Amino acid sequence: MATTETALQAIQQRIRLACEAAGRTAESVRLIAVSKTFPAADVRALAAAGQRAFGENYVQEAIAKMAELHDLALEWHFIGPLQSNKTRAIAEQCNWVHSLDRLRIAQRLSDQRPLSMDSLRVLLQVNISGEASKSGCTPEELPALAAAVAQLPRLQLLGLMTVPEPTPDVALQRARFARLRQLRDSLQQQLGLALPELSMGMSADLEAAIGEGATLVRVGTALFGARSYAPSSTSSEHKDLS
Ligand SMILES: *Cc1c(COP(=O)(O)O)cnc(C)c1O
Repeated sequence: MATTETALQAIQQRIRLACEAAGRTAESVRLIAVSKTFPAADVRALAAAGQRAFGENYVQEAIAKMAELHDLALEWHFIGPLQSNKTRAIAEQCNWVHSLDRLRIAQRLSDQRPLSMDSLRVLLQVNISGEASKSGCTPEELPALAAAVAQLPRLQLLGLMTVPEPTPDVALQRARFARLRQLRDSLQQQLGLALPELSMGMSADLEAAIGEGATLVRVGTALFGARSYAPSSTSSEHKDLS
């Protein structure tokens, strides 16, 4: 699909330019293609254009897509809300989790990660803009959570992730992303851990995120088009049934 390839090239170009403006190498930022709500065929088309890392938000949808695309050996990043009754599939099939925000879920993921696989790479999601509705731990909860997660045997804590409240104000976007970087820097100091990864920046604000040190950008709309529906927070998949 030519349009898929064009969209991928356009995003790669935005990433390159943002890296150039920030004095960073283009290799220092990885693109995660967020395929939620889009069919496996769209993922396959993007994979054919060279994209390897994909992000999904909803466990059931992710499982179906990973099964359908098994032949491609893609890298799967779980970036959505985590419920304790659905951790096993993530532990067994994903390469990364960006949205960890509770110790109980972290313990389950560690217990359920098969010994035959690498450690599950995890990022802690932080609620930077402080909206009550968003997931993520608070900056105040972060040090204790990070210290505990770092001890879990089958997880590898690599950094932080955030989904700030959308705003067209670029200065505000940058201030929020800078906050995540500062939290990461002080955590590294406090805990003596290396936390190289910052997952921040989406279709609308990836330039600001790269300017503030993003290493993983999560892009959906700009690659796949507008989502016609959100298999949203009202469906039963998104309630914590535990
Ligand atoms: C949907 C989603 C994205 C992608 O957002 P776009 O604006 O479509 O690029 C990134 N991160 C998370 C956590 C998401 O849920």
